[in-house]
Amino acid sequence: MTRSIKPLVAGNWKMNGLKADLAIAAEVARGYDAALKPAVDLAICPPASLLFAATAALIGSRIATGGQDCSTQGSGAFTGEVSAAMLADAGASFCITGHSERRTLHGETNATVKAKAEAAQKALLVPIVCVGETKDEREAGKALAIVKKQLRGSVPDGATAATLVVAYEPVWAIGTGLTPTAADVAEMHEAIRIELGRLLGKQAAAGVRLLYGGSVKPSNATELMGVPHVDGALVGGASLKAEEFLAIARAC
Ligand code: PGA
Repeated sequence: MTRSIKPLVAGNWKMNGLKADLAIAAEVARGYDAALKPAVDLAICPPASLLFAATAALIGSRIATGGQDCSTQGSGAFTGEVSAAMLADAGASFCITGHSERRTLHGETNATVKAKAEAAQKALLVPIVCVGETKDEREAGKALAIVKKQLRGSVPDGATAATLVVAYEPVWAIGTGLTPTAADVAEMHEAIRIELGRLLGKQAAAGVRLLYGGSVKPSNATELMGVPHVDGALVGGASLKAEEFLAIARAC
């Protein structure tokens, strides 16, 4: 399939990874060969504690790094918080914002997610803004409405293809081994593209990378990555195994 948008496969390590696990990043770098580099961009989002070392381990590989969250604040008396500028200073190019684990476990609202995405952009990071419905919302036929509302509330004004990535991650698919059907992903990603067109203008929206996330594995990656308007993946569990992460990248 010819793509007009270069796909991005981003690994979300979540709260996993000690120094020894930098070996995973090094293995991904070794496997990111001349055939793969022109076809797909890769990013690894380790815990903040490993960001500097992971970026150093990936120098020369053209694999980017990213944070998993950032503060809405620039600096100051915010114990435990990490600012977007600190992530950028540690080498990050991206920052995941509004992951469902942040929305659910830390009470992040659309407004918080938007403020974080704006903070990321201010530090010249590209936010990967996550949206997605719960199982109940899908079963009630509300998935499209919920995701559109999340987009309206979470996407920074004036974002462009160069300053925004959106990840559709159905909450019920994260870490469960369940995935939506290709038809459901196609319907959602098309709706996301249209909603972004309303928010940002059609031209900007046409180039924004829309990632699918939630139980992406080598065994389902070819089908999911072949869905129209799917421009890559946000990968949790499988990103902790270099061979699986690379296999997902090859499926793009
Ligand atoms: P998973 O996680 O691939 O383990 O389902 C995806 C994510 O949470 O980004």
